[in-house]
Amino acid sequence: MSNFIFVTGGVVSSLGKGIAAAGLAMLLGRCGFKIRVRKFDPYFNVDSGTMSPGEHGEVFVTNDGTEADLDIGHYERFTGCNANNKDSITMGKVFAELLMRERRGDFLGKTIQVVPHVTNIIKEFIQNDSNDFDFIICEIGGTVGDIEALSFLEAIRQLNYELGVGKTMHIHTTLVPHLSTTSELKTKPTQHSVKELRSIGIQPNMLLCRSETVLSSKELNKISLMCSLPPEMVISAPNVSNVYEVPLVYHEAGFDKVVMEHFGLLGCSPNLLDWHRFVDSINNPVHTIKVALVGKYTKFGDAYRSVIEALNHGGVIHLTKVEIVMVDAKKLAADGVVSALDEVDAVVIPGGFGYEGVEGIISAIKYSRENNIPTLGICLGMQLAVIEFARNVIGWNDAISSEFSSSGCMVVGLMEEWIGADAKMEKRSSSDDKGGTMRLGSYSCDINRNSKMFEIYKQELIDERHRHRFEINVQYMSTFEQHGMIFSGTSAHGSVLEALEIKSHPWFIATQFHPELKSKILDPHPLFVSLVEMALQHSKNIRTL
Ligand code: GLN
Repeated sequence: MSNFIFVTGGVVSSLGKGIAAAGLAMLLGRCGFKIRVRKFDPYFNVDSGTMSPGEHGEVFVTNDGTEADLDIGHYERFTGCNANNKDSITMGKVFAELLMRERRGDFLGKTIQVVPHVTNIIKEFIQNDSNDFDFIICEIGGTVGDIEALSFLEAIRQLNYELGVGKTMHIHTTLVPHLSTTSELKTKPTQHSVKELRSIGIQPNMLLCRSETVLSSKELNKISLMCSLPPEMVISAPNVSNVYEVPLVYHEAGFDKVVMEHFGLLGCSPNLLDWHRFVDSINNPVHTIKVALVGKYTKFGDAYRSVIEALNHGGVIHLTKVEIVMVDAKKLAADGVVSALDEVDAVVIPGGFGYEGVEGIISAIKYSRENNIPTLGICLGMQLAVIEFARNVIGWNDAISSEFSSSGCMVVGLMEEWIGADAKMEKRSSSDDKGGTMRLGSYSCDINRNSKMFEIYKQELIDERHRHRFEINVQYMSTFEQHGMIFSGTSAHGSVLEALEIKSHPWFIATQFHPELKSKILDPHPLFVSLVEMALQHSKNIRTL
């Protein structure tokens, strides 16, 4: 039977619980244990697919097409293990399951209540498909004290009791703020947060104390005494320069060792050599490039978390620091494209939805195409690359997508049906529900041998993850090709155009799929590796001109 580790957060949100859970999973995985990491989010959306990335961060998509919380991306990147729909659970999903069972008549005669009905479903979700794993790490979203998370915490309390301390562990992440006026680190918020947890019946087994600097033994001992925890169970978790350093710092502080001791497992130490090498390369780059990320949700870095991480991974291989220049597409019309893109070595156009900012992105694509700046378009980025090319190269001035307009030349539109994976017919209509109905998850894609894509992937058949509703209209394919655009990736027997490149451009590639979702720390995605290489080349060229 597996061991269950619950990770909660207190005092404030954004403490990095996701990174802590991912880091612990990585450390235990490298000790030879089989691990699975799950996220429990207190909100009522059934999944994060209907939430704005500008508000909630990116929607991460797993191989099986789950629209998951962005923390699932951290787990995959840190552990190298792929998640599925059983690993991203929301209160909405719990209630959808509850009400489905109620209608089916599973509870006939009973009054349905939070305890036991909601909590039983949560406990099922926690333990689902857990038998093959040594550890199931469950991160609970939100902050202790939030009204929405109470049922999750009650379910954990019950599991602690039912499975016993030897099978469960509760790690609480808190903040130890620094008061500049008295130049002191304050432990009181941590004490209060632990008190809050205790009031709902949970005594944490370990505290991860986030702070600006390393906590001294004075603060650690005080927290230990006030929260009734042995000193080795209070871990100092200071800020570090990049998230990949986090597990190394936690390891130094004894994090994984005390977790294993808690479960009576002794004597393993994770092999972290390659991880140290990776972090050293990030901290000691030889080159620097600037990459513009031209999007709609640029105020919030987490909106493009996987793209940013994939660029970092691609940079490390070339000992290159990738400086991201966020370019707000909505402001491009006013600020002008030249000032935004003049100094950059590459341009990335990430995914997005809706018309806002689209004309600004199209002008950025025109600029990078005409000025030979290495460019990667992702999903919306590919659709807009096609619209730009249709308007400015072919001369179809009214080229547009049916996502944005009901009139014009629809070079991008809704495909009503196609042959999907396993030769299954897939259908889509404009009146479909919005949640969970896009082309989601991993699909295979054929690569044209005479293309840059083939040089980069070195494979004729690839699998990549998708999240989109609209497609490039295949009926215009030959006109595009006559004007110098190559469709280098296709799927569904040629009916879905998956990737394009521009023949006369040194590196202009756009994909309908999201390559960033598969990039891992020690297995960077080839498209990002290649983009950084070209950006380095571009940077040398413009500096020597
Ligand atoms: N809005 C576009 C579509 O639904 C692109 C989606 C995306 O970029 N993920 O097809």
